[in-house]
Amino acid sequence: MGLGTTCIRGGYAPGNGEPRQIPIIQSTTFRYETSEDMGKLFDLEAEGYFYSRLQNPTCDYVAAKIAELEGGTAAMLTSSGQAANFFAVFNIATAGDHVVASNSIYGGTYNLFAVTMAKMGIEFTFVSPDCTPAELDAAFQPNTKAVFGETIANPALTVLDIEKFAGAAHAHGVPLIVDNTFPTPINCRPFEWGADIVTHSTTKYMEGHSAALGGCVVDSGKFDWMAHAEKFPGLCAPDDSYHGITYAERFGREGAFITKATAQLMRDFGCVESPQNAYLLNLGLESLHVRVKRHCENAQAIAEHLEAHPSVAWVEYPGLPSNRYHELAQKYMPGGTCGVVSFGVKGGREAAEKFMKGLKVAHIATHVADAATCCLHPASSTHRQMNDEELAAAGVPADMVRFSCGLEDASDLIADIDQALA
Ligand SMILES: *Cc1c(COP(=O)(O)O)cnc(C)c1O
Repeated sequence: MGLGTTCIRGGYAPGNGEPRQIPIIQSTTFRYETSEDMGKLFDLEAEGYFYSRLQNPTCDYVAAKIAELEGGTAAMLTSSGQAANFFAVFNIATAGDHVVASNSIYGGTYNLFAVTMAKMGIEFTFVSPDCTPAELDAAFQPNTKAVFGETIANPALTVLDIEKFAGAAHAHGVPLIVDNTFPTPINCRPFEWGADIVTHSTTKYMEGHSAALGGCVVDSGKFDWMAHAEKFPGLCAPDDSYHGITYAERFGREGAFITKATAQLMRDFGCVESPQNAYLLNLGLESLHVRVKRHCENAQAIAEHLEAHPSVAWVEYPGLPSNRYHELAQKYMPGGTCGVVSFGVKGGREAAEKFMKGLKVAHIATHVADAATCCLHPASSTHRQMNDEELAAAGVPADMVRFSCGLEDASDLIADIDQALA
């Protein structure tokens, strides 16, 4: 099936007379006839549900759809994108371990890694996504357990050379984890380029309507944990906290990663997606292929318009031929990149603030990837504690505006930008 068909039909196939839409199983618990029946579930010997903190059928229908869209073998929903990235890394790296990560990633993920997970004893080395293979190689340590990057970084809009990062990860016997939130599988399927695990903030394009937070972890099923068993004892040695199961033996490459993340991390952390939010996410997924195309068309038109505008100092959009990532974007995302454009208003901070005040159609919001256009001036909002030099060093200059193109008519968005710039 094509991706558009999978957006609508993946993960759930109603039988004769069953509901067309996925049912919202709003139940914390599930009933059994005998203790033995339930015991088999606890031993992971039978498939089924016992408590929605670990798994819920509604969430699993939607996770299965996302796994199909990404070309993976298994997936799990989480309560947010933050939880998805935490699970993806913590499932294989614990105290005393090390992870190599791109330094061009979402600020929330950077903070999760550099501050919170550092407190848990996991060390991160951050590298530029533009580093040479030799620089990347030098970042590895004997205790490195994973490599992490974003296909298109939010908000820097850098493009990850997935093959370069996958090659380095595999040469060191560890998986590459890619946060694919911005392109979505409609524009890029990182598994086809060597990534092993994909994460999403489904809060963004996948849900797409600013209605439900959520995240997803998808396994390609390709990484051979047992071939590197000494590096991954959590997957390749018995889990005493779960009846002595060895996940990689019992569930193989296809199932070990997600089964462990569910049975162990979700059991203990409980960052579970609610069935109601999973249902809303699924409504978003049904039109993902149509919406992403329109988001990208609008962004392309707006980026081209901005580039030619005399009041605009610079434009960053990988869809522009002048962009430093255009070639990589053409390779990994020939059908389009994402709907977010960033640009500088001539006149610096003051001019950018004035521009924001002038907007009539675009919402001022920290969010991106919504059906409604969202615009942000980081220097006066999310990054307001930084001075102009610090902002420049962080790659978020004081004149920068982040413009997340929604699904409105491009002509209305361009007219709004023009009158605000004027
Ligand atoms: C928003 C975002 C996250 C965090 O997701 P939440 O759903 O807000 O927790 C992670 N990665 C990327 C690329 C994002 O844009």
